[in-house]
Amino acid sequence: MKRQRLVLYIFLGFLLGIVAGLILGPKAEWLKPFGTFFIRLLSMLVVPLIFSTLATGVAGVGGIKLGRMMLKTFIYYYATAICSVIIGLLLANAFNLGVGLTLGELAKVEPKLPPPFSQIVLELVPTNVVDAAARGNALQIIFFAIVFGVAMGMAGQAADPIKKAIEGLAEAMYRVVDIVLYYAPVGVFALIAWTVGNFGAKVLAPFALLIFVVYLGCILQVGIVYSAFLRFIGGIRPLRYLYRIREAALVAFTTCSSSGTLPVTMRVVQEAGVSKATAGFVLPMGATVNMDGTGLYQAVCAVFLANAFGVHLGLSQYVLLAVTAILASIGTAGVPGAGLIMLTMVLSAIGVPLEGLALIAGIDRVLDMARTCVNVVDDTVAAALVAATEREDVDPDLLVRRAPAAPAARA
Ligand code: ASP
Repeated sequence: MKRQRLVLYIFLGFLLGIVAGLILGPKAEWLKPFGTFFIRLLSMLVVPLIFSTLATGVAGVGGIKLGRMMLKTFIYYYATAICSVIIGLLLANAFNLGVGLTLGELAKVEPKLPPPFSQIVLELVPTNVVDAAARGNALQIIFFAIVFGVAMGMAGQAADPIKKAIEGLAEAMYRVVDIVLYYAPVGVFALIAWTVGNFGAKVLAPFALLIFVVYLGCILQVGIVYSAFLRFIGGIRPLRYLYRIREAALVAFTTCSSSGTLPVTMRVVQEAGVSKATAGFVLPMGATVNMDGTGLYQAVCAVFLANAFGVHLGLSQYVLLAVTAILASIGTAGVPGAGLIMLTMVLSAIGVPLEGLALIAGIDRVLDMARTCVNVVDDTVAAALVAATEREDVDPDLLVRRAPAAPAARA
């Protein structure tokens, strides 16, 4: 099947899924296993894909260039994360979210408190690599892959056989992605039908404003922040680029998992001209720690719940909220619903009762779709910016000026 046709079928699956969900209502539940099958197929790829692409990416880049790329990537991650949280806070206040809400009876939830920061840092280092892979601990695999990649680079020719083998593994994994994607139209159809069927207007109506604000924030983050970065730093046409990566955005929207979407994200950015090394370096890390959509959502929900519980937020609480939302988004795993659990960290920091989570939990899937979509778009933008400023062969069709290399930001 031609690529273009596959992307079209995925979109058709999406549209038909909405129709089926509307017709079937809660009965669409029986379709869910077909969606879960798709998520499991994607998840199956994540560990070998992260390890092989990141290790070869790091070995391929090496030295000063690696340090420069890392610096660019992290500056981008944090700059856009700050923007997303600010957008979330401004919107939540502009719409007076949660003010005058009568909370009614809330089910007591057992909040899962996140571990202290020092432990998060320590847990980056796996004590047993095989165990980390078996548990699918993305951050630990990333840590090992980076160290291993650097070491392969340092070993030079002596490490060539293993380098070739891992490159071969990465290539084979890309082919597995191709195979899995044939199932994508069905998976997307089933997931979206289930979501629409389960979260009908009745469930969503009381939270319409909260949902609207999160979606509006997500649109602004993509439409203003990412578009400005693409255009002014990368010299890339934002609309064309966003259209080019639409398949990844759609898979993220329906699966609610940035890690699960990683195989698709890898593929679309390479089709836009990002090199394998850059994609392998920027994307696995991004899918794990770069989550602007989640940061924005956490900021909005925290203000919503603070207002709903009558907790007054002064300037210092807002600063605390912003900082913890960024940290919580970094600590959030790229799986469905993880952002809701990490919201506990933000709520406890500003003294909002954790029972508020029960309120959000009922509609979280709908918010998760938007934030995961932004999380993935965010990663694709990071990859494009690094590629453009490293003068890789980004598709000339995407560039503002049709030059062989992008203008602007020299390293
Ligand atoms: N589902 C999100 C993701 O995978 C994480 C979250 O729940 O915020 O990107």
